Amino acid sequence: MENNQIDVSYFKSKYPLLNKITERESVFWQNPHLEQMNDVPELPISVEDMKEAEALWHRFAPFFEKAFPETKETDGIIESPIREINSINGKLNDMYSKTVEGNYYLKCDNELPIAGSIKARGGVYEVLYYAEELAINAQMINKDDNYEAFYSEKFRKFFSQYSIGVGSTGNLGLSIGIISAKLGFHVTVYMSSDAKQWKKDLLRKKGVLVKEFAGDFSVAIKSGRQETLNHPDGYFVDDEDSMHLFLGYSVAALRLENQLKEKDIVIDKDHPLFVYLPCGVGGSPGGITYGLKQVFGDHVHCFFVEPTHSPSVLIGLLTGLNEKVSVQDFGLDNHTEADGLAVGRPSKFATSISDYLISGVYTLQDDELFKLLTVLFEETDIFIEPSAASSLKGPWQVAQSNYMKQHQINPENVTHLAWATGGALVPERDRKHFYEKGKALLDG
Ligand SMILES: *Cc1c(COP(=O)(O)O)cnc(C)c1O
Repeated sequence: MENNQIDVSYFKSKYPLLNKITERESVFWQNPHLEQMNDVPELPISVEDMKEAEALWHRFAPFFEKAFPETKETDGIIESPIREINSINGKLNDMYSKTVEGNYYLKCDNELPIAGSIKARGGVYEVLYYAEELAINAQMINKDDNYEAFYSEKFRKFFSQYSIGVGSTGNLGLSIGIISAKLGFHVTVYMSSDAKQWKKDLLRKKGVLVKEFAGDFSVAIKSGRQETLNHPDGYFVDDEDSMHLFLGYSVAALRLENQLKEKDIVIDKDHPLFVYLPCGVGGSPGGITYGLKQVFGDHVHCFFVEPTHSPSVLIGLLTGLNEKVSVQDFGLDNHTEADGLAVGRPSKFATSISDYLISGVYTLQDDELFKLLTVLFEETDIFIEPSAASSLKGPWQVAQSNYMKQHQINPENVTHLAWATGGALVPERDRKHFYEKGKALLDG
């Protein structure tokens, strides 16, 4: 796959926006393949799959209450709140010389228990799915039993016969490492050596084996996949092509539907929902978009956000090459401070679905991430990591385009939702550094 030659000049002349993308300018791309829900062709997963994924989370709730006492408050359900953040609108209206109307909310996955990021949805789900399958096949449990049993010496001993591996720039490794170690698996996280030190330290403290690789992250993931699968009882969580990760993320949509109802926020034809999702390999934003489209149909509009140095899903979708193309093929270096989004090649599984469902993608420069992170912190006291802050620009990005007009939407009636994908585990020292960097840029 890495060896295929991409005719860059052919694609640039066919899709002129690529000229700006390869110059690392920030862009806004509207997806010409977006379909009305009635016209979407049959997809490789169904609503029933999503409902089954939700049921699995419920079966494991008693396990979480025991194994992660911080989930007691939510009865063992791993979920984050939504918070109104209209107080940042004034500063961002000034910053972008554009007034955004409507209501602005933050989906606070930065507060998710266990992993402190959106990976607590997909990553944890995939490990639970695997653990359940092993236990059922070994006749240790039935789906109607109390899953507290998964937090027991007997189960830990059983799972210690199996190994799980994952390649990760950081957050996926944290979620897979933490949940796998808790269940008793042997777990190895393959990271590029430039991954954040505190993430490696935290994993080692939890009993996870961390293996580091020089060079691009793609080297780590390739070696990890090979090494894990060489093992007869090895299971590799493959971010580049995973249906289970995708389904784990999709359940967020069912939860969000209830949260909006609780706040009396109506979503219908005249009151659409606009959602802005930070995007790396495309799994988490893809799964959530899939779920939201099942729940709200054409009344939800989903936008992905990528760094200008790592627009992998954008290039994949725009050229139609999906996972067959990397940002490096177009001369981009994949270097960004948004480590959750530093992915050079899109997910095969997720991208083929997102192609029909997303409204567009925008990209932004790293400096802007820090400014946004600082504005949010100053106005609301909420800290989110740089990757997550990319979502905050969404409403202004859309307002600067003709999207609302084209779709005959009255901007006053829109509910905007930025998906804050991570932050809770970032150490105080790094938080301070990010904040001060944004402050200096805003004052500069
Ligand atoms: C992983 C991650 C994302 C993007 O998820 P993908 O599935 O890689 O697209 C966004 N934000 C944060 C903080 C992440 O860790």
